[in-house]
Amino acid sequence: MSFLALTDPEIHTVLARELKREENTLELIASENFASLSVMEMAGGVMTNKYAEGYPGRRYYGGCDYVDEAENLARERLKLLFGVDYCNVQPHSGSQANMAVFMTFLEPGDTVLGLDLAHGGHLTHGSSVNFSGQLYNFISYHVSKSTGRVNFDDVQDLAQKHRPKLIVCGGSAYPRFIEFEQFREIADSVNSYLLADIAHPSGLIAAGLHPSPIPYCDIVTSTTHKTLRGPRGGIIMVGKDKENPWGRKAQKSGRIKMISELIDSTVMPGIQGGPLMHIIGAKAVAFGEALRPEFKTYSQNIINNAKAMVDEFLTLGYNLISGGTDTHLLLIDLTSKNIDGKTAENVLGKAGITVNKNMIPFDQRSPFITSGIRLGTPAVTTRGMGKDEMRMIVSWIDTALNNSDDDNILSRLKKDVNNLCSSFPVYGH
Ligand SMILES: *Cc1c(COP(=O)(O)O)cnc(C)c1O
Repeated sequence: MSFLALTDPEIHTVLARELKREENTLELIASENFASLSVMEMAGGVMTNKYAEGYPGRRYYGGCDYVDEAENLARERLKLLFGVDYCNVQPHSGSQANMAVFMTFLEPGDTVLGLDLAHGGHLTHGSSVNFSGQLYNFISYHVSKSTGRVNFDDVQDLAQKHRPKLIVCGGSAYPRFIEFEQFREIADSVNSYLLADIAHPSGLIAAGLHPSPIPYCDIVTSTTHKTLRGPRGGIIMVGKDKENPWGRKAQKSGRIKMISELIDSTVMPGIQGGPLMHIIGAKAVAFGEALRPEFKTYSQNIINNAKAMVDEFLTLGYNLISGGTDTHLLLIDLTSKNIDGKTAENVLGKAGITVNKNMIPFDQRSPFITSGIRLGTPAVTTRGMGKDEMRMIVSWIDTALNNSDDDNILSRLKKDVNNLCSSFPVYGH
């Protein structure tokens, strides 16, 4: 019985409608997933009540014994999962994790290289509407038009010319493995730090199915709610802790501090106050889940499903950026299908299929319209769907896009989608 239904029926109804939406539609947004009931139990639990500014064993508040244990568990499990020396599990989001890294390694106005947003990057990699682009001198590198993969000649040229203090690799709409080793070579050639933002593929990396950034990158950030399938949040990791000769605080204190020390103090008190202890507890739960062998099977299924979608789209004559995928996501160029990304998103929504419009490299349209859509398989794979369902879903997407004006066809598709969803419940009842 729901307590909320009794105490606040108004918002409970909204929550119930969201649950129904999640159960009855096909979630193909590449950054979304369904956290387990265990993760949600922790995220919805009493640790939301606790103030715990500081870190385990050195808090600014009393009563922190159990939240300390929760944060230590989260840290130990995360270190094991990625094989790192150090991590910070307090960032409220992926963006906060990136902010903490930038504020640790950079002074305002410093030069940074990041992947162009339209080429698969992220807002926090230097977009002019984001703090990153406003505080720092971000220079964008690009993918090559012919391969859809990062153009390393471009990266090398820009690095030589601009001498960045930091290079950021990773993005939100890059279907291929991130080329950590190649970025390292370029970073070394200009004596620059290297940040890997693995917000998207972190679950695949934890499962050993995507190359790891840890041996190559000075510092790594991620979200915890995408392929990692945890609660909404961010993390920061360092493979081998070392001295940070450029950090602002290091210069002021006169002593050269370790990167880990600097990151801890940038996160709190630098950019955050009290940590979300219920979420940190839920991160511990998710990292525990990701350490189990089933998570590797799950992650392999994510990739298998994405490749099954690729095959089907290619058979139907679609143009995929980079020609396919190594990961959980596909970026589709709809230019040859005479439909823009915004319209496609709306049409698919009417058929019960949730995707997001997305810029494609060298897009001629604005970010509000776009020429592409981005699809991902983490959420449908969590439901237990496999290759047969992927092929069926792609054929429905194709039918919807080819009949974008026909509401009868779209509502018939929606029924098919509902039926499929009811065979693969997310949470059951
Ligand atoms: C999702 C994402 C983020 C930001 O995560 P939020 O939790 O939404 O702030 C950062 N970087 C990349 C590459 C992402 O894909």
